[in-house]
Amino acid sequence: MIALILFGPPGSGKGTQAAKLMDKYGLIHISTGDLFRYEMGNNTPLGLEAKSYMEKGQLVPDSVTIGMLRNKVEAHPEAKGFIFDGFPRTLAQSVALDSLLAEQGAEVSGLIMLDVSDDEITRRILGRGLVSGRADDLDEAIIRKRIEVYKNETSPVFDYYHQKGKSHQIFGIGTIDDIFERLCATIEGFEAEPHGE
Ligand code: ADP
Repeated sequence: MIALILFGPPGSGKGTQAAKLMDKYGLIHISTGDLFRYEMGNNTPLGLEAKSYMEKGQLVPDSVTIGMLRNKVEAHPEAKGFIFDGFPRTLAQSVALDSLLAEQGAEVSGLIMLDVSDDEITRRILGRGLVSGRADDLDEAIIRKRIEVYKNETSPVFDYYHQKGKSHQIFGIGTIDDIFERLCATIEGFEAEPHGE
C-alpha cells in the first residue's frame, strides 16, 4: 500500500497537487481540512467543534482529528493507497498514523514537503479567499497565525519522518504542471531508496 504524506505550509498547493496525484496513481485523497469543512457545512457536532478552532487559525485537538482520520481510513479497506493532505500536523498525529497503518501491515511510504516562502503563501491564500469564501483565508491575522502554528507545531513532523529516512522536499513555486512533475519524480524514487534510520 502507498501512503503518501503531502506536506507544507497552508497555501502551499497540497490540495491542488493531491487531486492530480489521486488521478494518476489511483489513491484515495484524505484532506482533514476538507473533512472538517464538510462537517461544518452540515452543522454536525464535530463540525461545530472544529469551527471554533479553525476560525482562529488554531489546530483542532488531536483526539478529534485522529478519530476522524481513523474512521476515514478504515472506511476504505480496499484502497490501493492514500494521500494524506493536511495530516499529520502534530507529532502525536504522526505517531497515531504510524500505528494505524501498522495495524494494516503498512507504513508511510514517504513525506513530500512543498517548499514555498511565507510571502508567496500569504499572497496565494488571500487570492484563494476571494473565490472560496473561506473565512480563515480572508483575514491576514488568521493567516499569520496559521503560518506560526505550522512553524511551531507542524514542522517537527518533517523532522520526525526525516529521522526515518522518509522526508523529501521539492520547490513549490512554478506552474502546477512543473510542480506535479517534481512530485511524480520524487514518488517514483521512493521504492528505489533504502529506508535509513
Ligand atoms: P490550509 O492547509 O490552507 O491551512 P486546511 O484545509 O488543511 O488548510 O486546514 C484548515 C484548518 O483546519 C486548519 O487551520 C486547522 O484549524 C484545521 N485542520 C486541518 N487539518 C488539521 C489537522 N490535521 N489537525 C488539526 N487541525 C486541522
